[in-house]
Amino acid sequence: MSENTIPYKIYLTEDEIPRQWYNLRADMKEKPAPLLNPGTGQPLTAEEMSGIFCEELVRQELDNNTAYYDIPEDIRNFYKMYRPAPLVRAYCLEKALGTPAKIYYKFEGNNTSGSHKLNSAIAQAYYAKKQGLKGVTTETGAGQWGTALSMACAYLGLDCKVYMVKVSYEQKPFRREVMRTYGASVTPSPSDTTNVGRKILAEFPDTTGSLGCAISEAVEVAVSNPGYRYVLGSVLNQVLLHQSIIGLEAKAALDKYGVKPDIIIGCAGGGSNLGGLIAPFMGEKLRGENDYRIIAVEPASCPSFTRGTFAYDFCDTGMICPLAKMYTLGSSFIPSANHAGGLRFHGMSSILSQLYHDGYMEAVSVEQSSVFEAAEQFARVEGILPAPESSHAIRAAIDEALRCKETGEEKTILFGLTGTGYFDLVAYQLFNDGTMTDVIPTDEDIAKSVAALPKVPGQG
Ligand SMILES: *Cc1c(COP(=O)(O)O)cnc(C)c1O
Repeated sequence: MSENTIPYKIYLTEDEIPRQWYNLRADMKEKPAPLLNPGTGQPLTAEEMSGIFCEELVRQELDNNTAYYDIPEDIRNFYKMYRPAPLVRAYCLEKALGTPAKIYYKFEGNNTSGSHKLNSAIAQAYYAKKQGLKGVTTETGAGQWGTALSMACAYLGLDCKVYMVKVSYEQKPFRREVMRTYGASVTPSPSDTTNVGRKILAEFPDTTGSLGCAISEAVEVAVSNPGYRYVLGSVLNQVLLHQSIIGLEAKAALDKYGVKPDIIIGCAGGGSNLGGLIAPFMGEKLRGENDYRIIAVEPASCPSFTRGTFAYDFCDTGMICPLAKMYTLGSSFIPSANHAGGLRFHGMSSILSQLYHDGYMEAVSVEQSSVFEAAEQFARVEGILPAPESSHAIRAAIDEALRCKETGEEKTILFGLTGTGYFDLVAYQLFNDGTMTDVIPTDEDIAKSVAALPKVPGQG
């Protein structure tokens, strides 16, 4: 098929929105390690999990074998409000770079919450509602997940309690107000509303909070309030399952034009957008049907894959959550306060960690000033103001495209553009003012938090 028959935007029809999510675990020979009960060191049972998560989500979390899950009609109808998401051929960026590479991006920022997180928020809220629950609790950092969840809860009539990392609560009042507009209650974390929050405040009165700490508070509130469960916007197997809609749509759009990507790139915080984007491609790779280079991009200031340890660790600072086996910097790791680019979680999805460990994907880390340079270059030619998180993927995609320019290779690159950056303008301001700096943790910083990894059987 000739080059110019590919449009700038490849849209699927509403009818072509996938009807099933794809569970990548079904095709993994080495399954991701199970979550462990921190008290017993034994795999968490469905019963233990059901005090924290909704029943259907527990089933999805534990299911390593069912390849496809039907997307309930109500969720699919909600998806129709903002999906299918466009797959864009970045002709303008290719031209600006002067590269022979063909660049495509899957844009997930076409909804008010501004990111891919809504794909899982609506699914998790739906199952909570279906179980007859009153509400859900969660944490949010910069606020994208909390915003997505409050939209989904408003739609379904569920109560939504959000614990927001204190520094973001204070510095990002706008996202907080979006959440409140959708009816969520938003509490700065650590707070004095939970035991774990009070304990952390007593020990570190000046703390500006962290995601791990907000998770501890949200879990405590869920397990101690009847009719509430906890929901999480990334990391978990169930979240990657829901996010597979990204990759399934992207693949369906590329298949329409007979395009096969050589390189697939996504930013990695907890791993949900990357896990979702690569799902059907990685499935083919695992089944030996096709090969793809898959690259995770993370901030140099929070380098879980590239400098972390593959081990069981807590997902939270309060150490009350189950243990997950993942690439981790240690649950007490907090990225430098000057880091403005998001992707601040200390750990990583167990699915992606296993795949990385087994050599099915690569990872690179990039410094935030180079990330914002890429964001600026992209915004000026492609028009979209990208989220700082997404801009990590842009950075790596541009770097690969420039490599193609040197070698003359006409590679096809697909990357995930996870969201928009309208609420991140303080970070853009630092960049525009030339005052953005890069603070990279030292080996000692990382060794210190990794030394505190929990003791579990078979691990140090
Ligand atoms: C939350 C978020 C991410 C990172 O989370 P993952 O679970 O790693 O996908 C990336 N981009 C945007 C816009 C986000 O909101």
